[in-house]
Amino acid sequence: MKILKIDHLGIAVSSIDGKKNFWTDALGLNLEGTETIEAQNVTTAFLPVGESEIELLESTSTDGPVARFIEKKGEGIQHVAFRVENIEDALAELKEKGIALIDKTPRMGAGGAKIAFLHPKATSGVLVELCER
Ligand code: ZN
Repeated sequence: MKILKIDHLGIAVSSIDGKKNFWTDALGLNLEGTETIEAQNVTTAFLPVGESEIELLESTSTDGPVARFIEKKGEGIQHVAFRVENIEDALAELKEKGIALIDKTPRMGAGGAKIAFLHPKATSGVLVELCER
């Protein structure tokens, strides 16, 4: 498995519109538009930071994964995403190493990326996303 870089940090917010000002006005990052992923009950907004990005996540339902995260832990970093060269190979290798996976096969994420999540029980409580673009 080859990890190319930290692709993005996913940050759960109660409202992208309500919370974007810190990122755009105070830090001067550029919000490149939003995208709703219906299957994951989430709207995402990407803000490039050099080679990586910040991904703001707003739940579109009261019981989606982002809503449950905020209910349990409050707003904050929800996941770390590593860009891999080949996500199918990476998942196969991790499975062989006995790492618990949430997604055994990749699904479509924002921006047409192939993504998969590893189980936090395997990662010291950090939700890890693999993505391939
Ligand atoms: Zn993500």
